[in-house]
Amino acid sequence: MDEPLIARMREFGTTVFAEMTALAVRTGAINLGQGFPDTDGPPAMLEAAVRAIHGGLNQYPPGPGVPELRQAVSAHRKEHYGLDYDPDGEILVTVGATEAVAATVLALCEAGDEVVVFEPYYDSYAAAVALSGAVRKPVTLRPVAGRFTFDPDELRAAIGPRTRAILVNSPHNPTGTVFTRDELAAIAEVCLERDLIAITDEVYEHLTFDGVEHVPLATFPGMRERTVMISSAGKTFSATGWKTGWVCAPRPLTTAVQAVKQFLTFTASAPWQVAVAHALRHELGWVAALRDDLQTKRDRLMDGLAAAGFEVLRPAGTYFVQTDIRPLGFTDGLALTRELPGLAGVVAIPTQVFYDRPEYGRHFVRFAFCKRDEVIDEAAARLAALAGAAARGSAG
Ligand SMILES: *Cc1c(COP(=O)(O)O)cnc(C)c1O
Repeated sequence: MDEPLIARMREFGTTVFAEMTALAVRTGAINLGQGFPDTDGPPAMLEAAVRAIHGGLNQYPPGPGVPELRQAVSAHRKEHYGLDYDPDGEILVTVGATEAVAATVLALCEAGDEVVVFEPYYDSYAAAVALSGAVRKPVTLRPVAGRFTFDPDELRAAIGPRTRAILVNSPHNPTGTVFTRDELAAIAEVCLERDLIAITDEVYEHLTFDGVEHVPLATFPGMRERTVMISSAGKTFSATGWKTGWVCAPRPLTTAVQAVKQFLTFTASAPWQVAVAHALRHELGWVAALRDDLQTKRDRLMDGLAAAGFEVLRPAGTYFVQTDIRPLGFTDGLALTRELPGLAGVVAIPTQVFYDRPEYGRHFVRFAFCKRDEVIDEAAARLAALAGAAARGSAG
């Protein structure tokens, strides 16, 4: 048979995550590739889901989501960010942030429209834009003084007459950058000037370190009216398998997104929704402890990577740390990550797969630190072998 997959999806046929996870399984290497925690979320949240199932919450919930969760999201936005979203019409529960992004792009972008994305970007963005028939316009994040950032002039230059939207992910996967107020102000200015919609992916909103604050783009003057703000329970409550996310946006935008979402999945699973509503109202203390714990894990892994000979770029948020592999004598992250299980018994992700122009990310490799301390320590001990290999000149 000819290739059955439609042409515009062919570049997304197989992902490096599948390759690297298979490599970890085959070799018994420690998997610091995929970003999911190896411990559970708050016990009372888990209990609430079990209670919901035994209590008969097992049929289709309302299309926009269980009212309890929409109300909890509304209260959380108000309390943390001073943003008002009406639970009836301005909040939509989705099957994770992934469906929220896809439904938003499909709802708002015509074929041929352009969508600006900061590269390296979360892999589902490119696929969502391709599915809609829109065209992505990358703006590259580059390390300046140890953190990835963008050049506002480059952002301006990426905007054309067909630009419809800009996808903004902060805290940013895979670089760990948390956009500053100045960076966000530059994005807001462009959105207002060029009449763009902002689609913001804020799934790591609570996972920032060293006292760095996450500021939603929607809080900037004039931005609430043109922003589709997306988040999810997966990262905040260490429940990535629950796939419970939400959209907050002014009524016309929410209505448009729901028009698409209703034919993708109609509605999201019911029991998780009440459990996440509980967590948003009662478990943010647990989340603060998670954040502090993750910061310690970040430092632990950074120390191990530095000792192994990587140049380490300190992330201000998320699950991930970026390394520059050139001090070890390597130049291509894809080649290194394919060899790494053999060299050191560890699996990581080559950052170049998150770019439209992989040459900008060739020498970066991403490691996840959302793992138990003993797993991080074992990975660090194994990676120490690299320093020896580099010193002996065997690292090609
Ligand atoms: C994990 C992740 C998602 C996916 O969130 P789900 O709620 O699991 O769909 C979306 N965006 C980014 C940047 C992520 O890291």
